[in-house]
Amino acid sequence: MDVHPALADASTIPFWLDTDLRPQPLPPLVEDRETDLLVVGGGFTGLWTALQAKERDPNRRVVLVEANSIGWAASGRNGGFCAASLTHGYDNGQAHLPEENDRLAQLGRENLDAVEAAVAKYGMDVEFERTGELDVATEDYQVAELREAHDPDSGFVFLDQQELAGIVKSPTYKGALWDSREVALVNPAKLCWELLRVIRELGVDVYEGTKVTDVSDATSTVRVQTRVTAETIEDCAAAQCSTITAKRVALATNVFPSLLKRVSLHTVPVYDYALMTEPLTDEQMAAIGWEGRQGIGDCANRFHYYRLTADNRILFGGWDAVYHFGRKVSWKYDQRPETFETLAEHFFETFPQLAGLKFTHKWGGPIDTCSRFFSFFTSAYGKKVAMAAGFTGLGVGASRFAGTVMLDLLSGEDTELTELEMVRKLPLPFPPEPVAWLGIKLTTNALIKADENEGRRGPLLKVLDAAGMGFDS
Ligand SMILES: Cc1cc2nc3c(=O)[nH]c(=O)nc-3n(C[C@H](O)[C@H](O)[C@H](O)COP(=O)(O)OP(=O)(O)OC[C@H]3O[C@@H](n4cnc5c(N)ncnc54)[C@H](O)[C@@H]3O)c2cc1C
Repeated sequence: MDVHPALADASTIPFWLDTDLRPQPLPPLVEDRETDLLVVGGGFTGLWTALQAKERDPNRRVVLVEANSIGWAASGRNGGFCAASLTHGYDNGQAHLPEENDRLAQLGRENLDAVEAAVAKYGMDVEFERTGELDVATEDYQVAELREAHDPDSGFVFLDQQELAGIVKSPTYKGALWDSREVALVNPAKLCWELLRVIRELGVDVYEGTKVTDVSDATSTVRVQTRVTAETIEDCAAAQCSTITAKRVALATNVFPSLLKRVSLHTVPVYDYALMTEPLTDEQMAAIGWEGRQGIGDCANRFHYYRLTADNRILFGGWDAVYHFGRKVSWKYDQRPETFETLAEHFFETFPQLAGLKFTHKWGGPIDTCSRFFSFFTSAYGKKVAMAAGFTGLGVGASRFAGTVMLDLLSGEDTELTELEMVRKLPLPFPPEPVAWLGIKLTTNALIKADENEGRRGPLLKVLDAAGMGFDS
């Protein structure tokens, strides 16, 4: 099928950010400041950290600085699947932290409940829908595993091909596991901007266009150098510098170069891509069903994720995961025509009844991949600085939990969360180049081969599994 006409007019702006609802830019920091807590980074992790800091102590002075604009990066351009899992799925948690995996699953459910409660408490208009997720099998070999996971008491319901056809209609489906409780859908950019509104109402001072360039110890405080940036985080011709003296600092900089050198090898940026369709008509909606509006993901290593928006568009993303030599993050990689064409072809294979539908947006963004595929934490300068990163593409929900952990670490007290192995143990770092590039290339090829081979994992994946670096989506 020729997908070019369907893609021809698609905007390259991430759909969620392409709206008049985007708040007016906030001025950068142009003078020296003192604060109790400085949060660096204005994505979900930084915003949730600032919100919880004010909830814990309304009198604490909190400043948040963002190099670009609030929510411009991964947080404003993702699929909006807000999952309970803190470990990128129960099985991945079991592979890495078997002793505390059940507790982490419970903490993840509590975290998702807390996200929902915050949305209600602060009246956030973020299109929050706790629809759950359908994990669909598109190959026969995938069905057995889904059937085995059937556990209605825990909210996991297996649907055979016929039952599934009554819920969402696609000729590619062989069956599904409906995870009815542990995933919600949100409009991610609206969530960023609503969190911004709330933290400002609670008294957090927010500066955009303000990049932190250095963090250093100053006995009882931390000294942070900032400089006013231009349009993008890379294009930061120094305009004006200032110093923030902070009692505590939370680093929420995700995929961007870490301000703590010792963890700079612990993540690699891997690019993920998505398409957005025009709104479906009532007839088109009737042709696919999907009245439950669940998020959908398929089961292969290279998987698609897709969902409806509030105005009945379909976001369709995933499949390719692209790493660029040298750990490079650049706006240049946000567009990848060959991936958009593949996604468009897969979209129409999934929903042939929607032939003729057009895509209005196509975009991508980097994911902070770490070797265990879920977040890690560290602290520095006598626990005056904490950081969280490594969400590996599942950070919409987990970012709030990361904020809770960072505040616990910065409190200097031992808490249940600071004692978790998840928090105390770092994942293995990636090697320097060119080994990282070669290793990621070989692993990607091995995962593709496993998909073509009914999920059977070859020698390289088995070695990585044994070394604690394996991943089975
Ligand atoms: C295409 C795509 C789809 C995704 N889909 C999903 C999904 O459906 N579900 C899910 O759970 N996850 C998904 N993710 C991942 C999810 O978006 C991220 O895990 C999450 O947004 C991370 O939030 P964050 O605040 O840590 O990072 P970011 O949103 O990247 O924010 C970090 C911020 O820090 C700022 N910053 C960096 N360095 C500095 C500095 N030195 N000084 C000042 N500011 C700085 C940056 O400008 C940036 O705004 C997806 C990601 C992508 C790219």
